[in-house]
Amino acid sequence: MTSTATLPSAAQAAKKLVIKFGSSLVTNEGKGIDPEAVSQWVAQIAQLHAQGRQIVLVSSGAIAEGMARLGWPRRPSAMYELQAAAAVGQMGLVQAYEVAFARHGIRTAQILLTHEDLADRRRYLNARSTLYTLLALGVIPIVNENDTVVTDEIRVGDNDTLGALVTNLIEAETLIILTDQPGLYSADPRKDPNATLIQQGRAGDPALEAMAGGSGSAIGTGGMLTKVLAARRAANSGGHTIIASGREPGVLLRLAAGEPIGTELRAVLPVRSARQRWLANHLRLHGRVTLDAGAIRALTQGHRSLLAIGVIAVEGDFERGDVVACVDEHGIECGRGLINYSAADTARILRQPSSRIPEILGHMSDQELIHRDNMTFVRSPTTFAPQ
Ligand code: GLU
Repeated sequence: MTSTATLPSAAQAAKKLVIKFGSSLVTNEGKGIDPEAVSQWVAQIAQLHAQGRQIVLVSSGAIAEGMARLGWPRRPSAMYELQAAAAVGQMGLVQAYEVAFARHGIRTAQILLTHEDLADRRRYLNARSTLYTLLALGVIPIVNENDTVVTDEIRVGDNDTLGALVTNLIEAETLIILTDQPGLYSADPRKDPNATLIQQGRAGDPALEAMAGGSGSAIGTGGMLTKVLAARRAANSGGHTIIASGREPGVLLRLAAGEPIGTELRAVLPVRSARQRWLANHLRLHGRVTLDAGAIRALTQGHRSLLAIGVIAVEGDFERGDVVACVDEHGIECGRGLINYSAADTARILRQPSSRIPEILGHMSDQELIHRDNMTFVRSPTTFAPQ
């Protein structure tokens, strides 16, 4: 981790950029869409577009704008009220962007996604091809979570993560997260006068995650942790992440000119294949299988497929073809993949050699429980919570 910027901003060389706007920026801290501010950012994006760069916006603010339009002073907690606010506010949000981009002769498109759309292989590929088509047409897609239909089970939950998923989807070189903070600090600047701005770091550095509010520490409230975790996710497709203040004058043009502003988290980890990213980006899983030590070694060191004999327990309710986590005896995820047998069948064949599967189940679709090609390794804890 370094704290002094030595390199030009990663945005300079980027041909494909995802730019994420936080709610508080777009809605002037919840007062309602700030058309002036939106126009300023759009004018900058229009220049980047004229330079031949392809840009996707991920914009929050639907719920905040909906609350302002409905005259609600406090954010409701009931899901149906949040969904109603999002439905009202999304209109204002896209209208503000559309009007501002139209002044520069640029067309926009609205894309509303849920986690389920990205987890389903066919819908994921559809979303990807639609985004590519829009970019080829010179249109600027404006993405948000489809808050009106999401439930806890199918939501991404925050737009920093959604920004990273979109970065992976279109293989953008840079994700710029514009927020109301100057960037990531070494400690909470509101509490610690010695806190310094981290200018450069490595996406996926656990020290940064701890700094941003992970294990036992500080700034989590500013939403920095989701941004730092988003940087790790963006790095899976080689995307660098910049966290900067949207209030910094000319921030986007200056970043694109190479000026280092805010915090830049460089992607240095090996890039995963598109299929492996799709597996890793499943935020909610249908179940998990617990592996014995031999199976974990075979997977992680021997690069082998997972066989039923290495499984000691199964949890969840999944079907053939669902993505499940592979965990060790302490519940720590070491990998995940598309499983070839349902939860019920897996429970019957675990601890058994593959040669016995036809006799136990009366059929055998595959030798492997999870084939090597359908598996990826993850370092994050599994989000599957047994019922
Ligand atoms: N999708 C939400 C909205 O537009 C925002 C989620 C977020 O800010 O992370 O209101």
